[in-house]
Amino acid sequence: MGEIKEDIKEILLSKRKIKKKVKKLGKQISDEYRGKNPVFVSILKGSVIFLSDLLRELKIECSVDFMAVSSYNEKTESSGVVKLIMDLRESIEGRHVLLVEDIVDTGLTAGYLRDVIRMRNPESVEICTLLSKPAARELHIECRYTGFEIPDEYVVGYGLDYSEKYRNIPYIATLKSEVYRR
Ligand code: 5GP
Repeated sequence: MGEIKEDIKEILLSKRKIKKKVKKLGKQISDEYRGKNPVFVSILKGSVIFLSDLLRELKIECSVDFMAVSSYNEKTESSGVVKLIMDLRESIEGRHVLLVEDIVDTGLTAGYLRDVIRMRNPESVEICTLLSKPAARELHIECRYTGFEIPDEYVVGYGLDYSEKYRNIPYIATLKSEVYRR
């Protein structure tokens, strides 16, 4: 096995581009949530790198909690079935919730989680996603904050995996087709 960069086909979003965008989102969120003590709900595992960079750009008081769902298993296509496999630790009743997603593809995961959160009587719920694939959308979903719109291609890096690999590459990229045949 060689280095992971040998598996990369194309870099879609460089480290520098992501950094600049995360800074901008952090500023926007800080301006809009000042004094509201929002809770950032991060969806494991894909969104953790985005979350950790975003948090360091925030100038406001906030808290963090985690949820995990299963949807893709080892494939690159959405099964359409979303299952909650880990729930929040804290109550979100009366809180301003920001759902932090790595990518909104069909929209099924974000839609399901937004509904789960809404049932718990928060003050508000909004979605903040680093990436969005508008061409793949099956469920219309409003994302208050979107980092980048990308084409309907499978991407990895900056937290996003393929078969649990490639989360640690610091940019967003596509993989060579032979990787999927291994
Ligand atoms: P959705 O329910 O919107 O179809 O899918 C959301 C989840 O599918 C994301 O949180 C992510 O885990 C996974 N996903 C969707 N598209 C991609 C992609 O291009 N690359 C990776 N690594 N995961 C994806």
